[in-house]
Amino acid sequence: MLKTVNLHKKYNEYSALKSLNLEVGKGEIFALLGQNGAGKSTTINILLGLMKATSGDAYINGISVSEHPQEIKQHLAYIPETVLLYPNLTGIENLDFFSKIAGFNYTKSELSELLLRTGLQELAHEKDLGGYSKGMRQKVGIAIALAKDAKVLLLDEPTSGLDPIATADFTEIVRQLGQEGRTILMATHDIFNAVSVATNIGIMKQGELVQHLPSKSFTAEE
Ligand code: ADP
Ligand code: ADP
Repeated sequence: MLKTVNLHKKYNEYSALKSLNLEVGKGEIFALLGQNGAGKSTTINILLGLMKATSGDAYINGISVSEHPQEIKQHLAYIPETVLLYPNLTGIENLDFFSKIAGFNYTKSELSELLLRTGLQELAHEKDLGGYSKGMRQKVGIAIALAKDAKVLLLDEPTSGLDPIATADFTEIVRQLGQEGRTILMATHDIFNAVSVATNIGIMKQGELVQHLPSKSFTAEE
């Protein structure tokens, strides 16, 4: 579960977040839509503990981000717009490296199993060296999140720059993660993607949530 309570962030005199109240339950996929500058990245950076709120707080599984920034890192996985991998390591070696940083020591077959879940098994032994498409790198990002067994996932524009097939493929994995009971917050510009996968849609404007709807309200069905 993820929650922000009266979250406020000022950069000098400018209020990038104004009393933001968000709540994403277990198994929910919350799409945070908004134009550039709306405050999506600021929200994610505070949740990640990379930035301090000016006032208010955020909670991950009930734990205060401002009071326990180290502890919340164990509950979270972050998938940026572009996942950065070590070019001299294969897919499986990258996964091994990042899971060891997170304190997990998996066997080769467990790591293969994680890559299998994201449909990347055939690339496990290829080095990155520019050969991985953006879609593949995003999937390695998901595999790293699974390796950490993160219950809360923060995705920042994860499908920007992906072609429609890679977007659909990635979206299907995100949908499954929600069905497994993970809590997902996804900042995005892509309303079509948001409607297709999200259980809830929030629209941010100038640091405020101006709309919050279940995503079904955006479709013609039901
Ligand atoms: P989004 O992710 O929705 O594009 P951001 O959270 O990046 O929005 O930015 C929200 C607002 O805060 C923008 O006006 C941006 O220019 C400003 N901003 C973001 N980060 C900083 C910073 N480190 N210093 C000053 N202003 C910032
Ligand atoms: P996005 O739309 O993905 O948020 P941005 O270009 O708005 O991308 O921001 C990229 C990074 O730069 C963010 O970490 C944000 O905090 C920072 N940033 C954005 N605006 C400013 C600003 N005016 N001054 C300093 N840093 C900024």
